[in-house]
Formats: sequence, structure tokens, C-alpha cells
Amino acid sequence: MAIDSHIHLYPPSVYLDPSSWAKPRGEAYWLSCVQPPRGRSLQTWKTVDELLSDMDEAGIEKAILLAWYWENHDTCLENLSWQLDWQQRHPDRLACFAPFNAKGETAAIELLRRAFDAGFKGFGELNPPAQGYRYDDPTLAHALELAAEYGVAANFHVTDPTTHDYPGKIDTPYRELLALARAHPRVQFVFAHLGGCEPLRSEEQIPDNIAFDTAACPLLYKPPVYREFCDKVGSQKVLFGTDYPLRVFPRDKRAPDFATPLAELHNSELSAREQTAITADNAKRIFALT
Ligand SMILES: [Zn+2]
Repeated sequence: MAIDSHIHLYPPSVYLDPSSWAKPRGEAYWLSCVQPPRGRSLQTWKTVDELLSDMDEAGIEKAILLAWYWENHDTCLENLSWQLDWQQRHPDRLACFAPFNAKGETAAIELLRRAFDAGFKGFGELNPPAQGYRYDDPTLAHALELAAEYGVAANFHVTDPTTHDYPGKIDTPYRELLALARAHPRVQFVFAHLGGCEPLRSEEQIPDNIAFDTAACPLLYKPPVYREFCDKVGSQKVLFGTDYPLRVFPRDKRAPDFATPLAELHNSELSAREQTAITADNAKRIFALT
């Protein structure tokens, strides 16, 4: 049984009319990602029941429900309420990462405390440049201290400066991300999307407290990337993630699923042991999943 360390979910009240939902909340960045002004959208929407049935079909035991990187604290609060509801209904199948925006200051820290007390395994996905605060924001530092206290993780969205442009692409400087992880050695960091493959281009030492998820990688890279990445950083630092319900195989698949990204990993040049580490064991160990 596998674990997906990177999915997103929204209630119908959000996705039935994304524009009417996002505009009054000042969530223009999210809207530009899910409903790009130009080109087709890869975003699809799923109910929690559809999610669970897709998980069953592909043998996904548990999924980590990341929050979106909202521009406003009030939207973070709203996102938290959906997650608390879903987690309460399906505690055996879903684990959550809390929403966070440093601009919420003390209220953002209170939100995290509430989430961690409710058993959340971390916070993020975070994307400070898109959310309107800096990587060295004191409230973010405070949030990371709190995560250390609770023994939970932080997931950061990382883009690849060398790939094509796509809706919502924004620079996430790798050096600043590394500096943050070094400044908070007690916190487990997850750099999403294989850290934009920055480790493959950089000779910088990767701190022990960073892992990398594979979310959306089929959109960005060819399968040999998994072998190359494991050779450089070690398979014990790689976590299977999909970015479900994003369509990451837009040419072959009209609907998102878990089986196709899993099969891509299984068909890449990884040993059976490495595959088990990436699709299950690493997540269980890193997030203390039971
Ligand atoms: Zn992301």
C-alpha cells in the first residue's frame, strides 16, 4: 500500500464557481492557477468520496492533504475548517498539513497551534513569494519553531527556473529555501516538485532535514529524473506525491488518478526497495504516520 504525500482538495462551494468564490476573498493568485486567463486548465475537482475511491483503486492507503498557499489569513481559516471536517470523517485515510500565511501574524500562529493540537502532520504547501511575505519573515520563523516543538513538518512549493512557463509560475529562490532549512534544523522540510530539480544543478550540501516530493513531476520531467535524483540525493529523501486532482498526464488521461503516476515510478529504473521507500516507507517514517 502506498502513501501520497502531496494532494489538494476543495469543497464544492469553492469549485462550482471558482471566480465568484476567489474574487471577494482576494485570492487572485489561486484563481490564476486553477482558471488561467490563457491556455487550458489542468485543474480538476473531486469530492472527498471520489478521492477515496480513486485511492482505493490504486492501492493508496493514505494521502496527505496539503493546504493551498493563500494570500490571506482568513482564507487559511476557511481551508482549516474543511480539513478538520475531512480528517474527522476519514482519520484512517487522510492526514493534513495546515494552511499558513505569515501576514496573519499571531492569528496565523494560533491557527497552527489549533491544527497541530488536532493531529495535523505539518503546515504548507507554502509559497512565500506568491503569498506576499519573505522567507525571512519573523512570523514564518516563529511558525517553524512551533513545528519543531510539535515535531511536525513544513512543505514548500519549489519551482524550476529552467522549465517552460505555466500559469502561476513564480520564482522560489533555492538558496533562500536552503538557508531557511539550515536555520531550523529541528524541522523536517519537504521541498515539493523534486525541489524544482535544483539539487541536480547545485553542488550545495543538502541539509539532512530536507526531503523532496514528486508532485506534478510527470508534467515537468521525463521518468529518468527519478534515477538521477535518487543517485544525487538518496532514495530515502524522496516522497511519492501527485498533486491530485491536477491532470499530470494531460495527453493520456482526461481525469486525474493515482495509478498512472505510480506506474511511472514503478517503470523507472529504481530497485524494488527504492520504490517501496519512495511510495510508502519514507512518508511513514518522516511524518510518523500510523
Ligand atoms: Zn506546489
